[in-house]
Amino acid sequence: MSDASILSDTERTTGRDALRKNIQAALALSSAIRSTLGPRGLDKLLIDDSGRTLTTNDGVTVLETAKVEHPVAKMLINASSVQDKIARDGTTTTVLVSAEMLNNAWHLVTQGVHPSMIARGYRMAEEYCRKELLSFTIDATKDDRLIATQTSLAGKGHEAMRMHLARLSVEAAEIIADTQSDVAIADPTRVKVLSQSGGVVTDSKLVTGLVLAKKRILEAMPKKIGAGNVLLINGGIERRAMASDMKLNVTSTGVLQSFRDKELEMLTQQVEQLQSLGVTLLACREGIDDDIRSALNDAGIQAYRRVARDDLDLLSRGCGATLVHDVKHATAQDLGAFIESRNEMWNSVSHWIVETEEGGATFIARGSTTDVIGEVERCFGDALGVACQLIEEPLLLAGGGATYIALARRLRRHGETIPGREQLAIEAYADALEIVPRVLAENAGLDPINTLLEIVASQSNANDDISHYFGLNVDTRKSTNMVDDGILEPLRITRQAISGATEAAVSILRIDDVLWAKTDAVIPEMD
Ligand code: ADP
Ligand code: MG
Repeated sequence: MSDASILSDTERTTGRDALRKNIQAALALSSAIRSTLGPRGLDKLLIDDSGRTLTTNDGVTVLETAKVEHPVAKMLINASSVQDKIARDGTTTTVLVSAEMLNNAWHLVTQGVHPSMIARGYRMAEEYCRKELLSFTIDATKDDRLIATQTSLAGKGHEAMRMHLARLSVEAAEIIADTQSDVAIADPTRVKVLSQSGGVVTDSKLVTGLVLAKKRILEAMPKKIGAGNVLLINGGIERRAMASDMKLNVTSTGVLQSFRDKELEMLTQQVEQLQSLGVTLLACREGIDDDIRSALNDAGIQAYRRVARDDLDLLSRGCGATLVHDVKHATAQDLGAFIESRNEMWNSVSHWIVETEEGGATFIARGSTTDVIGEVERCFGDALGVACQLIEEPLLLAGGGATYIALARRLRRHGETIPGREQLAIEAYADALEIVPRVLAENAGLDPINTLLEIVASQSNANDDISHYFGLNVDTRKSTNMVDDGILEPLRITRQAISGATEAAVSILRIDDVLWAKTDAVIPEMD
């Protein structure tokens, strides 16, 4: 059988043709989000299948919502999602840089440079950039962390909201930071987000401890209790549910009552066990029988039922408690400690606040409508991601395209020392990095070429030790020192954006054959 008949149900493009089509797909994707880059970027209106709408200028949100079928476009979207996971920002940048790398590679291919040669040159360029980036970094103070968090929110919501949320996220990151071991860790999932409708965005606040919209199971239980032991049950304290095919033979009038008494006795025993363990606070994922509420209160236990599993997990991390399946299996080792547990009424809704040693934090998102609250939550989430990674790696770079231009300038000089054709690829790579300031200028209504020339001039006129700080400030529309202007970004964002973009571009360059199954494949007939 010939090749053609084996692949009769497959569309196939090979060689240059495949590369051209793949690069076209990458460029189409990047042009869809190009206008969102930077503080002057525009928003996109996203409408999902059920007609729900969302306006955003977040690259990864746009890409993940769009139903893109092209496999190469999906590879770029994937790079953007990875960027979001690792650095929590820089998602638009990654796609733009990657597509520009491919675009420039295509020019070299048409001049007869082999894609694998370009891929090799790109790898060399990436390695050089990663090293060079380290010489550009600034150690972040607490103020700098706030500035960088604000920069990452640029273009999202209004200014008062950005300032407020950036400040809260830096505070939250500090509360949950674990700096005891050699490497500092700040896990943003340790911050609980609770929404509360009403009020304005700047009423959003941070509460130390974990806050749940819950009420203690009995009004008579004390509203507020001081330090004590907590038990978390991943189940409930309930009567056994009767299986539907279970039969109870009632032979005399007392049987049913004694069955009930026996059950209640078993529940009461569990309360006694809790008391002997020294539990003063109890939270169950499932129910707690109404008939033992008073007994729990008499035993000095403040109790909560139907607590979501996620919240139990947060409690367990904050209090150092182990989740147990039921009371019978609980031991003293499973207990955790808390500093205070109290109930407060907010907007006529009862809230339960637990303060713990390990210091969890809850962000209360406020806003007039659910859309506004949603935006506040997303903005806070982004800011918190950046604030947390700055605790883990407190190194910053100048924003506004400064770092990209500085890298491009050095890379070109470095390329001159490479004798092979890789030199061409390294130059193409340097050109691709400049897409960031070019698009920032374009979106601010400035001429991209003039802006680029201006930044390059200001970098070469400055002293060597600060030349890489000069970039475009879109607020003043001038090329100035970004560190003085407070436009700073975490190193991790830029480093990951460059690596992710290179990774995606190189893997797309390596493809020389695209086999695409036709959707309505037919079974070939036997001869
Ligand atoms: P991404 O999805 O890649 O994070 P953004 O739309 O958030 O894209 O834009 C980030 C870019 O905007 C960064 O390169 C950052 O340096 C730049 N930026 C932020 N504030 C300013 C500013 N005031 N002037 C110029 N550039 C800025
Ligand atoms: Mg961003």
